[in-house]
Amino acid sequence: ILVTGGAGFIGSNFIRYLLQKYKNIKIINLDKLTYAGNLKNLKDIEKDKRYTFIRGDICNREVVRKAMSGCEIVVHFAAESHVDRSISGPEIFIKTNIFGTHVLLETARELKVKRFHHISTDEVFGQIELKSKEKWTEKSPYNPRSPYSASKAAADHLVRSYFATYKLPVTITNCSNNFGPYHFPEKFIPVAITKLILGKKIPIYKPGNQVRDWLYVIDHCRAIDLVLQKGKIGETYLVGSQHKEYSNLEVAKLIIKLMGKKNDQIEMVGDRPGHDVKYALSARKIEKELGWKPEHNFETYLEETINWYQNNESWWKNGKK
Ligand code: NAD
Repeated sequence: ILVTGGAGFIGSNFIRYLLQKYKNIKIINLDKLTYAGNLKNLKDIEKDKRYTFIRGDICNREVVRKAMSGCEIVVHFAAESHVDRSISGPEIFIKTNIFGTHVLLETARELKVKRFHHISTDEVFGQIELKSKEKWTEKSPYNPRSPYSASKAAADHLVRSYFATYKLPVTITNCSNNFGPYHFPEKFIPVAITKLILGKKIPIYKPGNQVRDWLYVIDHCRAIDLVLQKGKIGETYLVGSQHKEYSNLEVAKLIIKLMGKKNDQIEMVGDRPGHDVKYALSARKIEKELGWKPEHNFETYLEETINWYQNNESWWKNGKK
């Protein structure tokens, strides 16, 4: 299996998950090690004989061909993933997320891989009005509103076009927001936890009522694994927790409570341009057709995640630098 972006948050959790679950497996991790990639995420398995790391850019055809040679399956995580960075500097998002995906697809076609699984996001659908009960499905129209989500949407379209045009055996998962260990401390939940550990306030974009669907990263890994095993070629599956709705302010207050701090530890800051107010999806298709269900309760695993950040200060302090 070639995993791209395996030194990032979800990719590193996925590699560890596969190595724990399957004995007879060989994983190649192709990662450029941008600011978001960190080999410490895989320190515990770096000596595993079933695992090989290649430092390289998915936009480089030669590197990609070398990494993909002999692989049956490609699981494509590598991306620029932070919305705020896409607003201040969109170009690298276009390059990595669109052109990089194209290079991988072309190489997968040339090498006739048996499966190309593309990791995407629910953000491609845009936003839902706060009071609306709507939930996105696999049939919902794309309406991305940030350069990040637009670049992911473009990549999704490219992946589907390679199925329709070249019969490349693809599958796609569009997942909601993940949380868990090894999450880079620029994203909301790790920012909140690490700020509190440092005795600082949690910054929240005004007005704090934005709603996200939070899924524990291992549930996402389980969903990808299941789609690789049982997913139908050419199909897309939405993956999300669908637990009760939490606004960003509620999540911050929950983290404050779990860490035994006071509610005055919140600082409202100017909003992000084009901030999507709400994401909500239906995971009915993957539940019904493949039998997937989230197994990790939000509040319990939020506490686990807090413990992880408390016990791994050296990991995130280096990241913050
Ligand atoms: P991340 O930013 O933590 O990791 C991205 C990884 O990709 C890093 O290791 C980085 O070094 C690598 N990378 C970036 N550019 C590269 C390039 N040109 N060549 C090779 N490697 C490169 O991201 P993440 O949160 O783990 O997200 C992984 C994937 O999942 C992304 O495609 C993202 O769009 C998608 N996704 C993320 C979430 C979430 O909540 N984090 C939710 C849904 C979907």
